[in-house]
Amino acid sequence: MQNLLNKVRIIGDPVLRQKGRPLALPGDTPFIIGLVRTMERTLEVAEGLGLAAPQVGESVRLFIAAPNHLDELNGHVVFINPELKPYGETVKREEGCLSVPGIYETLSRPSRVTVKARDVRGNSFTLDVGGLAARLMLHEVDHLDGVLFVDRLSPIKRKLLRGRLRKLRQGGRVY
Ligand SMILES: [Zn+2]
Repeated sequence: MQNLLNKVRIIGDPVLRQKGRPLALPGDTPFIIGLVRTMERTLEVAEGLGLAAPQVGESVRLFIAAPNHLDELNGHVVFINPELKPYGETVKREEGCLSVPGIYETLSRPSRVTVKARDVRGNSFTLDVGGLAARLMLHEVDHLDGVLFVDRLSPIKRKLLRGRLRKLRQGGRVY
């Protein structure tokens, strides 16, 4: 099981900085099924809330959510080619990321989002979510654009983290 966790790419890996390509449905379906299986097992072992494809080295527009964790997701766990419309007031909430292990910081983001995506069967669906579910969507779609949550911290917070982030990029651990 440990080698599944080794699949998770850590800050400093160039794949985390690429903009993921949109997936074609049904053309990419066999690839998607294999990718989702790997991601679901990885997320389960890592006990994370969400995982984006670039975090396992695939620069494509897909992320998954931990199953049955968030009621608002209506049973949806796979989000392909997601499009977000954030709205509402800005809220502060602590975030962490499997690709930035050991670092947790409070970050402001919009409180709600409408997400439109496709499931593994290619069916389009739309959800309107707030709270932790909204935060998850915003965090994961950032991954698909090559953005990590630490990029969104204030310059002062980033400066304070500089040494720990450098250590992670060099393959070290900060916890
Ligand atoms: Zn993340």
